[in-house]
Amino acid sequence: METLNWVIRNARILGVDGELFGDAWIKAGRWAAIGKVPDQAIGFEYDAKGAFLLPGLIDTHGHFRDMGFSAKGTFYTESRAAVAGGVTTVFDMPNTPPPTTTLERWEAKMHLVAPQSWANYALYFGATEDNLSEIHRLNSRRVPGVKVFLAASTGELLVTDEAYVRRLLRESSIRLVFHSEKEALIQAAQQQWANADWEQVPDLHTRCRPPEACIESTRWLLSESVHASVPIHLLHITTEGEIHLLRKRPSHVSAETCPVYLQWTAEDFRSYRHLLKCNPALKYPADREALWKGLLEGVLEVIGTDHAPHRWEEKQLSYNHAPSGVPAHGYLLPWLWTLGKARGLPLNFWVEKMVYAPVRLWNIQERGPIQEGNWADAVLFSVEDKTKVPEPQAPGHYSRVAWHPLAGSALEGKVQAVWVNGYLNFHEGRFYGSPSGQAVVFG
Ligand SMILES: [Zn+2]
Repeated sequence: METLNWVIRNARILGVDGELFGDAWIKAGRWAAIGKVPDQAIGFEYDAKGAFLLPGLIDTHGHFRDMGFSAKGTFYTESRAAVAGGVTTVFDMPNTPPPTTTLERWEAKMHLVAPQSWANYALYFGATEDNLSEIHRLNSRRVPGVKVFLAASTGELLVTDEAYVRRLLRESSIRLVFHSEKEALIQAAQQQWANADWEQVPDLHTRCRPPEACIESTRWLLSESVHASVPIHLLHITTEGEIHLLRKRPSHVSAETCPVYLQWTAEDFRSYRHLLKCNPALKYPADREALWKGLLEGVLEVIGTDHAPHRWEEKQLSYNHAPSGVPAHGYLLPWLWTLGKARGLPLNFWVEKMVYAPVRLWNIQERGPIQEGNWADAVLFSVEDKTKVPEPQAPGHYSRVAWHPLAGSALEGKVQAVWVNGYLNFHEGRFYGSPSGQAVVFG
């Protein structure tokens, strides 16, 4: 499986001009012909048997842990889980111990990740209240952005000084990506609910991190973004109020939501308990409907997974001690396809949200669409088969923590094969070769 030349026959190819049935040729790791392959094309033959051949998904928001968090996952284990679910490129967040807040740490993390990533990778940088001089040293062709945590979450990164955020917006030389929640409103809500018992108040996490915290923060950020010198991206949008605000945003602002908010609401804490505890918190059914509407309208351009694994034992702790974050990888494409199928959405809807939009917004070079010259990052997806998600701690999980909130479900569709830079790394549930991810280059 180690060859870089492949002739893929009989595929429903999702190309830039829509769907076409035919063959595709991968030559030296890149697309050399789409639809019809020249007679002299050399390569291993692969019969797709009518399955979809689509570009590998690009996850612009993940937490692949590693370093001080390696018990929760390493880049090796989590990038493997990503690939198994149809993802071939990942952007990793900086809230690892130690946080990625100096150029030296960013470079050290790139060295750590390079030999072990099954997916192509890019690493975000983390803002603190005193590292603007480091931000000025970053190379915008290598760094996807600077993450600003306006509210506390996993790790120690937090920027609450509004004057400093204004300065960042005006002076940053590189894209800013925001966790938008107002820390002061969260603190007030946490005090108000300090003595509440989770058993009596199942949506306690949503009450402690209420919709207003998101809406007020995003309202403020959007008004300040008018003065921004760089593109702004808002991560994990969760509320109906923010969708209303985003309809009137400046054109250099983009936004995402995550599968977890499209699937579940605060009503699901009753059965899932802290397994679904994440930040921002799950909101209410009207918010979920607004997110779907926002996706369809294009108000939310991107899906990020916010893959954030924590160990199974940690998630069984009491409300105050259970960490926030939910693993998303392992089954992503079947999950999205299943969610969308219930709403009559075609596979190309997810390709737009997780390939074309990220490529456009981040100006990703030589990757993404299945077109001649691009690196061959591709997924073969059968809509005839199903994907069974194993029970927690059972064999068959790819993520190190070995659990997923979808445990026990049979999802629609199955990832049959994944090529990364022309290497067939995943086939029929097994990995082949060695990690072949490359560092992403931005234009
Ligand atoms: Zn995140």
